[in-house]
Amino acid sequence: MRIRKSLLAVVLALVLFASILIIFSSLILNKAPNQQNIGEKKLIVVTTGIVADVVYNVAGDRVIIKQLLSEQDIHHWEPSTRDVLEASKAALIIYSSRHVETWIDKFRAAVPEGVEFVEAAENVEFLTVDSYVDPHFWFDISNMIKVTDKIVDALVKIDPEGSDYYNKNAGIYKEKLGNLHKDYLDTLSKFRGRVIITRHDAYRYLGNAYGLITASILGIEEEEISSSKMQYLIELIKKENVKVVFGEYESIDDIVDKFAAEHGLKVLKLYTLGTLSLEDVMRGEGYIYRMSKNLEALVEGLSIE
Ligand SMILES: [Zn+2]
Repeated sequence: MRIRKSLLAVVLALVLFASILIIFSSLILNKAPNQQNIGEKKLIVVTTGIVADVVYNVAGDRVIIKQLLSEQDIHHWEPSTRDVLEASKAALIIYSSRHVETWIDKFRAAVPEGVEFVEAAENVEFLTVDSYVDPHFWFDISNMIKVTDKIVDALVKIDPEGSDYYNKNAGIYKEKLGNLHKDYLDTLSKFRGRVIITRHDAYRYLGNAYGLITASILGIEEEEISSSKMQYLIELIKKENVKVVFGEYESIDDIVDKFAAEHGLKVLKLYTLGTLSLEDVMRGEGYIYRMSKNLEALVEGLSIE
């Protein structure tokens, strides 16, 4: 009886030890493959420069930010196998919107389960133009405030200890965005109802938010426009006495120069922010800088007598 009792105790102890071992090793194994923390920092994978800009302004170097998409424009990029590998290590993947990264579902399916995806512009109201959803939401600065809120929530969820830090930074950034939005409203109020002609159809959100009418040489995804739309554009130039066409810093084709020469227009440039990179943001040439430059160009163009 005595021997049996001590045997039972040994067996129980062994079972207990084994279960602790299993629980402990599964904890280690669960953590390792998906969330690669570099030092203490979490890896945040972002797609566009718009998202990189907000994450950098909110999280600074409390996280490691890796941007997938920079040199190629938003409209012409698809993730590679390397991008999938990079994303697999992330604590969080933040993309702009399914209306911008139209490949996101395919990408998500390729990344192992358990990596969380966050849609930064989830709470933005998108414009629809002839059955197209217009992706260029960032030209209405108030949309960037919504994006900042969404990104703060996502960061706090994976790093609750950073909550105060993220919220403080977000407050500062949102104040800057709010000031820029007000600046646009005030500055452009005297040009209310005026027409701006741009290289591609990217500025409808700007027009809507700040009272300008937009028209363009190319369509929303830089496709050629129909001859009837081109006819409308040419009539609009005459009717509204348009003096300027806005090209893009990001595009090197000569379509704008040709168009300007044909219709006697001056050429000024705007940023589309389609190729914005984390490096641009880090050297102080991010969203706010480029949007301020855009405002200067708009004022210059609309002031031509
Ligand atoms: Zn575009």
